[in-house]
Parts: sequence; C-alpha cells; structure tokens
Amino acid sequence: MKKILTVAIFMIVIFLTVRGNGPVGHTPEGTGPEQDKYKEISGIIKKGETLFDIFKKYGLHAGEFFKIRKASADIHRLGELYPGQPYRIIVDGNNRINTLIYWMDDDSVLNITRTGSGFCAEKKAIEYEKRILHRGGVIEDNLIASMGNNRENLMLAFQLSDILAWDVDFASDLRRGDVFKVIVEGLYHDGEFRKYGNILSAEFINDGTVYRAYRFGHGDKADYYDDRGKSLKKIFLKAPLSFRRISSGFSPGRLHPILKIFRPHHGVDYAAPAGTPVSVSGDGTVVFSGCRGGYGNLVVVRHRNGYRTYYGHLSRIGSGIVKGEHVEQGRVVGYVGATGLATGPHLHYEMRIHNEAVNPLTANLPRGGVLPKRSMAEFGRLRDGMAARLASITPAVLVAAGKGPAEPGKTADAGAYRP
Ligand SMILES: [Zn+2]
Repeated sequence: MKKILTVAIFMIVIFLTVRGNGPVGHTPEGTGPEQDKYKEISGIIKKGETLFDIFKKYGLHAGEFFKIRKASADIHRLGELYPGQPYRIIVDGNNRINTLIYWMDDDSVLNITRTGSGFCAEKKAIEYEKRILHRGGVIEDNLIASMGNNRENLMLAFQLSDILAWDVDFASDLRRGDVFKVIVEGLYHDGEFRKYGNILSAEFINDGTVYRAYRFGHGDKADYYDDRGKSLKKIFLKAPLSFRRISSGFSPGRLHPILKIFRPHHGVDYAAPAGTPVSVSGDGTVVFSGCRGGYGNLVVVRHRNGYRTYYGHLSRIGSGIVKGEHVEQGRVVGYVGATGLATGPHLHYEMRIHNEAVNPLTANLPRGGVLPKRSMAEFGRLRDGMAARLASITPAVLVAAGKGPAEPGKTADAGAYRP
C-alpha cells in the first residue's frame, strides 16, 4: 500500500513538472506510443476563415470540432474568429486535439484542453512583460505619418494627442520640425512586442514651445502633470475637433487631414470635411440647440466662470444634445457642415465670457488641480528620472540616420514590431 502511494505521489510530481514546462502548459493524459508524437499547428486567422476551415485543412476530426465548439460556447463563440488573431493547436499522433489556443484579443486567450471526458475551455489573461521604450521623432507632415502608420503607432499617436489635448491641437497646430519624445511601456509576450501600454512621460515641442507630461499615480488613479506638478487638464480643450476622432475615420496609411484655421471675425473657423464630429471643449450645460440665422445649426454651451462656447454651421446636431442637457468635455455635440451663412463645410467656434468674445486660441484658461503637497517629493523624484530619460532621446540624429518613411520615429531600443 505504501509503495503504491509513493508511486502515485511520484507520478503527480512528474505530471506537475511536465505541466509546468510543457509548451502550452498542459500535458495529455493519454498513454501509448503516440504520446510523444505531438505536432503543433499554428497560424493567423485569415479573412473569412473559420475554425472548421482550419480543421478541414489539417484533416482534424469534425466530431472534435463540435465538442470544442460546445465546450467553449460560454466563453467565446468559435463561429466568430477575427482575422489577424493567432491560434495554436497541439494534436497527438492520431491527429486528435490535445490543446487549442486562440488569442481572443490583446488581453486574453481562449485555452481549450482535452480532459478525460471531453474538452475544457477557459479564458486566460495574457501576462505581458513590460519593457520601457523610448520613442522620438521630428514631425515632417503630421503626427501619425511621423510615428509610423501601423496600428500600434496610431494608438500611440492618439494617446499622446489625448494627453496634450488641452494645450496642443494636433490637427491644426503642428509645424514641420516639431519634436516628440515619448517614454512608453511596451508590452511583450514570448519576447515579441505586442502593443504599447501607458505613456509614462512625454515631451512635445510645438512651434518652439515645450510641453512635458509625466504620468503620476496618487491614491488609486493616475494622471498627467507638468514639470511643476500641475495637472495638464484645463477647463477647455485646445480645439473642439478631436485629433483622435478626426483621424480614426481615416485608414492608417492614408494621409491624414491637417485642418486649416481661419479667423475672419471674433470666432475661429475650422475647415474640415463635412460630417467630422465636433466635441464640446469643456463641461457645461446646453443652453441652445437648433437653427439660428447665419449660424445655421448651432449649439451653445454654458460653462463655469461665465464662459459660453458656440458651435455653428453644423450639418446636424448630436443625439441627445437638447437644451438643459449636461455635457462632459469631449462629448460630440454635432457634425461639421455648411448650414447658415457658410460657403463650404467648416466649424464656426466661438468663446465668450460674460457675453464678450474672447479668442479661444490665446485665452489664458485656468488649469486643473495641483498635486497635494505630500505627493510633491515623490513626484519630483519621478519627474527628474523621466526628464533625464527624455533628455537622452535624440530624435534629430535618428532622423538623420536614414529612417525609412514607414517608421521614421522608431528608436534603436524600440524593440520588435508585430507586422
Ligand atoms: Zn465663423
């Protein structure tokens, strides 16, 4: 009896050891000569390809397909595989499925394993290894073209534009020769770059003015602060046309629009394609929504401290934007059009304080809060460390070093990219 117990424990230890080191974290319970003839099938889901197509392609058993589909029904419908997502299938010597792994999204995998009675499906979080990456570049045309056109670089450009949205209008303020430097988390899996995490700090030199942002957590939230520990948030965004919203309507690889600004009167006119979403620049309450003379379709929002903003010539007004509605900064209040006295599609944006027109581009608008005093020492250490890292990035040299047009901003330690 004691001998049997010892053998059993020995087997469990071996099982756990194999399980821990196995290629997919699981080992088959089957025995026999085919046990060591495992074969791996892996690939990327093609457009229009179904799991059943993959089964047919590799001569896998249709019966197992239906069992697997049933086992995973509560987690992910295998009828809906997304093109571009990787998968890996381990089959035994009899071409029977041992393990099937499908990457559902950037954060989780569907892991299906054979059990004694059938298949067991579970959703597992992808554990990323974080690396700190340095990126930098010089704007030649627009931010996205300068960062590179693949999806990850696009998301990084959006993240940077969101962080600085209160100071820089990335759709119309950019100048050739502007410089960006970013310190960002790179998320790696199996040694391969998968995506960017949070931007930890950034420097942006726009038309000679330097903006810096440092991500700093206090309590359970993180925000971005300037060199002096002041929040980058202001009561008004720099522009009512969000760079993210404008650009995400254009496919990567195409030239992104640079909007033109005109100031023929006391407001600002943004020439933009009809239908471009218009975001309210600050929190407030809608006080007018409808058609008014030369303004055409107009939305007026009242903000704190006596400010009002006007959005005119809209092709249509955003859903739910009615008098009395409370709107948060960034909400879409309407879409660019040419209603009223307008020769072509543009947004007429106007800001008034106590009914006096002010220039929203130069108005000295109040910033958000400052970090509490008790956090300043910790913030100062983080800022100094990040500032030194930022200073070590030399984008001008990188551009001179013959960067190709696809990824001119990529630095030497930026790591590998998923194609
Ligand atoms: Zn106007």
